[in-house]
Amino acid sequence: MGHKAASATIIGAHNGLIRWPLMETRQPAAAPYLSAACLHRLAPHLVPMVRRGIVGQSRYAKTLMAAIQAAAADGQARPVLISGEPGLEKDNIAALVHFGSPARHKLMVRLNCALLRPDGSDLFGTGSGSGGGGSGGEAVNLLDCLAGGALLLDQIDRADPALRPALVELARTGNWSAIGGAAGEAVGGAISGAAGEAAKPRHFEGRVFFTSERSVAELDAICQQIRVPPLRVRRQDLGEWVRYGVRLRSRSLGWSRPPVVSEALIKRLQTYDFPGNVRELMQLVDRALRQCASGHPAELPEDVFWIQRRSQRARFDLWRWKPQLRGWMRSPRFWNFLLFGLVSWVFVLVNVWLWLGPQDRQHNGALNFFWAWWWPLILLGYPLVGRLWCSFCPFMVWGEIGQRLARALGLPSERWPRGETDRWAAPLLAGGFAAILLWEAVGDLENSAWQSSALLLLITAGAVISSLRFEKRFWCRYLCPVGGMNGLFAKLAISELRAQAGTCSGSCSSYACFKGGPAEGEGLATAGCPLGTHPAHLTDNRNCVLCLTCVQACPHRSVSLRLRPPAADLQRDMQPPAGEAGLLLVLAGGLCLHSWQKLLGGLPLAPPSLTAGPLLGRLAFGALALALPAAVMLLARAVAGPSRQRALNLGLYALLPLLWAALLAQHLVLGMAEAGLVLPVSLSPWWPETAARLPAWSADPHVIGFCQTLVLLVGVGGSVLLLRRLLRQAWRPWLVVSLVPLALGLGSRWLVGVG
Ligand code: SF4
Ligand code: SF4
Ligand code: SF4
Repeated sequence: MGHKAASATIIGAHNGLIRWPLMETRQPAAAPYLSAACLHRLAPHLVPMVRRGIVGQSRYAKTLMAAIQAAAADGQARPVLISGEPGLEKDNIAALVHFGSPARHKLMVRLNCALLRPDGSDLFGTGSGSGGGGSGGEAVNLLDCLAGGALLLDQIDRADPALRPALVELARTGNWSAIGGAAGEAVGGAISGAAGEAAKPRHFEGRVFFTSERSVAELDAICQQIRVPPLRVRRQDLGEWVRYGVRLRSRSLGWSRPPVVSEALIKRLQTYDFPGNVRELMQLVDRALRQCASGHPAELPEDVFWIQRRSQRARFDLWRWKPQLRGWMRSPRFWNFLLFGLVSWVFVLVNVWLWLGPQDRQHNGALNFFWAWWWPLILLGYPLVGRLWCSFCPFMVWGEIGQRLARALGLPSERWPRGETDRWAAPLLAGGFAAILLWEAVGDLENSAWQSSALLLLITAGAVISSLRFEKRFWCRYLCPVGGMNGLFAKLAISELRAQAGTCSGSCSSYACFKGGPAEGEGLATAGCPLGTHPAHLTDNRNCVLCLTCVQACPHRSVSLRLRPPAADLQRDMQPPAGEAGLLLVLAGGLCLHSWQKLLGGLPLAPPSLTAGPLLGRLAFGALALALPAAVMLLARAVAGPSRQRALNLGLYALLPLLWAALLAQHLVLGMAEAGLVLPVSLSPWWPETAARLPAWSADPHVIGFCQTLVLLVGVGGSVLLLRRLLRQAWRPWLVVSLVPLALGLGSRWLVGVG
């Protein structure tokens, strides 16, 4: 034997990878006593070595390891049946048993039962004329050549029923009948089923291994069984598996050091079931590393790992229905005109108007538009089109202009920090939003045109500075307060933009949607997704600003715009980013702040107004009102205890429709009372007489109150249904928990209601 001798024992866990000694060895050279004809016959089927040991340290990994050890040490070398779902490398488990057994110096061959002829000639025939590897020289039989080696019969459950009895008999007694001559002359290889002139009894001295995806009743009694657990029950091992795969793939890419894989990424992958098991995981790792735009990243970005987390049912593809809509929406000429030719200059005009025009809402049309139109409209838009505002947002248009200028001047930009960015950015975003709300209340921004403009310019400054410092749109992804709110409520939308994971993994090698690149096929040259998101990886609408860059870049028409059921992003298995719940509580705090007098006006030291008087007292009471929902949540967390934290978090997300409804109800007051006055208000400073003749409309307070009630009813209904989906409770506890949104709905009506 020319192969390196190796110990038969299995050594213990090593860095989470339970290693098999022989996995590092090369294929043992064929035994010298084999004739050239035998070598030729066996060569196509040889199993050279084990591919890998058992990865992981979970109890499932250890149980599997123990089962392999027991089978390897079996003195009687009984047949082994290895069963489990597809993609679990069951053939490798068989190799682990064989190469860990005393017979490890003997050869192992593998045949796929799904491909064997029903007459068994591939296995029991001499090979000449049977397609079994015969060379046309000396007629030899595979089992004779294998002598005392190991025969692995893969996918026994897919063997032809006519052949099965012969295979079972071979495993049970070792007996078989050779089939001579051309295929089809004899049927069945076992003594029991033998027929044909050449059938004569033989005995196989080696060991038989089977693999199967289903149970095989005939084999149960005669085989040692090894059941391989699917990856989804071994979630604890997933980190080891991913890091192992990244190490292997990095080596083949020639990278000296494999990229770091963050715990956040592992946690996200742990929410996925991996129906294709190890095979799917390895493909995922391979695809992820191929996508890494930078060539050799120090840490793997989360975005390159995209998985289809749940079935995408009940979707209606708008672009398949109206293909011309897609062509129009992906036109760069349209977007360039809209964003850089129109929106950018309208934004400048609005700000000039706010700074130089009258300062109150009754005489400044821009201020009227901001508070009476923009707020109600953007809130009304969330359930329909999610983050639509972000597709033509003027803040970012100026950010992009700044970035393009900087690039033209040769100023360098940094890659943005990924990985755990949300961990610090999400609380910062929520804090920023809280500061804006406080400023709004204390500074009476609704009635101060220059301060409203200052707020808009401040957000624009954030977008410009981030765009100068970092590549892409770091501001939009992590820090923009308006974007944070848009992303949160976009989860409720009935529309989504997604790529087909199947098309992407099956037909794409450029990943132009994500990485950018030159034009290819019908894909246009772009810089890739400005949020560093892969459209097939999107698990909710939060990280997509609907810029349609991916639609322009994709050469395979993989990206589609679809209608879906409301709030489809909110599912029980979702993994909201760290800190996002903070923003939700801040938005709820905004409601309390807006109607602070109803809540805190009776307290001692309460100022008569938040807009006039000593600043410290106003700030203190404003902050107190703003912090009320967060305080209630902290209290609930303390009462619920550690085991109920996730349920509490999901319950908070279930209140999102109610929060949306309460905010809309609050902004309906100004919207319905003043939006219809925008024309006379706009012209009144310059042409008061003309302005007085222009159409004006203002809703009666009772009508506003009725609409508020209606909106809040929708919100309460949405939250009650979401509670059922997210908490999946039995009917009675669900009805009890549903009292919470009902009570909050009534409270909101009292808080923000008119009439
Ligand atoms: S995230 Fe903010 S800056 Fe970016 S597009 Fe949306 S609103 Fe504009
Ligand atoms: S969306 Fe298009 S460009 Fe992106 S990976 Fe899929 S097929 Fe490739
Ligand atoms: S490129 Fe596609 S996935 Fe990325 S933000 Fe734009 S529309 Fe969304």
